[in-house]
Amino acid sequence: MTLSERDQQHIWHPYTQMQTSAPAIPIVKGAGAYLFDEQGKRYLDAVSSWWVTLHGHAHPYIAQKVAAQLLALEQVIFAGFTHTPAIELAETLLEILPANQQKVFYTDNGSTAVEVALKMCLQFWNNKGSSRQKVLAFTNGYHGDTFGAMAVSGRSVWTRPFEQLLFDVVFIDPPTKENLPQLKSLVSGMATEIACFIYEPLVQGSGGMLMHSAEGLNELMRHCRKERVLMIQDEVFTGFGRTGKNFGCDHLTEVPDLMCFSKGLTGGTMPLGITTCINEIYEGFLSEDQHKALYHGHSFTANPLACTAALASLELLRSQETQDHIRRICKKHLEFSIKVESHPQVKEVRQTGTILAIEWKSNAETSYFNAFRDQLYPFFLEHGILLRPLGNVIYILPPYCMSNEDLEYIYSVIWLALSQTEKR
Ligand SMILES: *Cc1c(COP(=O)(O)O)cnc(C)c1O
Repeated sequence: MTLSERDQQHIWHPYTQMQTSAPAIPIVKGAGAYLFDEQGKRYLDAVSSWWVTLHGHAHPYIAQKVAAQLLALEQVIFAGFTHTPAIELAETLLEILPANQQKVFYTDNGSTAVEVALKMCLQFWNNKGSSRQKVLAFTNGYHGDTFGAMAVSGRSVWTRPFEQLLFDVVFIDPPTKENLPQLKSLVSGMATEIACFIYEPLVQGSGGMLMHSAEGLNELMRHCRKERVLMIQDEVFTGFGRTGKNFGCDHLTEVPDLMCFSKGLTGGTMPLGITTCINEIYEGFLSEDQHKALYHGHSFTANPLACTAALASLELLRSQETQDHIRRICKKHLEFSIKVESHPQVKEVRQTGTILAIEWKSNAETSYFNAFRDQLYPFFLEHGILLRPLGNVIYILPPYCMSNEDLEYIYSVIWLALSQTEKR
């Protein structure tokens, strides 16, 4: 039996209709921006393996650091105990976050980083005896697949089977010049009920790489600050260079109260999640009363190997070489976006930093299940490129090590796909 056949016998894959999807492609090796299958066919990883890979696959520096840590300490309970990688990672990350972020809480993925942020806010008010219980969030937002994270994500086909069970959330559209007065009066109208506002800064990833302006978000954040609504900035996707700067917050003048990280945190090497917060929130849990503590934790909280991978990845991210790569990719994306915008099949091109999204013209409504996806995904694979369109939105977010030649190859295949859909 081939690996594919053995896979099909027992494995249930994420985000996959198992009856109609093509068999999973077994990958046996990764190197830089490439993945290799059993036959040695290579695929350019143009989506950074679901938005996590920063410095390329099987990066030797991260591998060497993790291997050494594996021989020193692989795991230890994180209640009552601590370890150097967790301490050093907290120190290093806080150095490059807004100065108001003072405490670090570890989990092991983006959804749980969000769950923790929500629980911190809700219990913060509860500990104070306040009745603030509502959450404010953006329509088309995405914050993860566990129940709390799902509840604060926009309602979609992904959440539909569970809709009755999701707690109520006040959804607002991302800010524009036109709707800001209305958004602000809505927040003011229910301010004393709102515990927190959760949002993806500048780019709504899973929602279709939708982008809003820093000015609009700044103004909405200033208003939330005024109304004492706690702000959770979900940087699970936008963190670690994706937007062209280290974090979404580096584009903003306002600062959030809590932040969530995962995905690129370990350079895409190991699962790890982090929720950071301001001292005031942390202090809201300090008490002689045991009941006021935050009772949340996961078995692998702050796993030393994952923390070590994150430290090594941050070191690489802060190097001149990586910063130059990020600038280079932003520039290449911009050049191509100007060219591709003029293609008759293109409805809109959106770019923030290393994220480039191209929305195809389509008669059907823009959605995840747009039929284009089913034609485009195999088309790109045939050309040796891993691109996963979100419906009729194609996006490229490459590992930062991807060469100009590889980027140009991807652009040329996208152009080819556009020209072929034109003919049909
Ligand atoms: C992917 C994502 C999450 C969820 O992270 P997982 O590690 O997949 O659970 C949360 N928020 C945003 C903005 C994301 O893009």
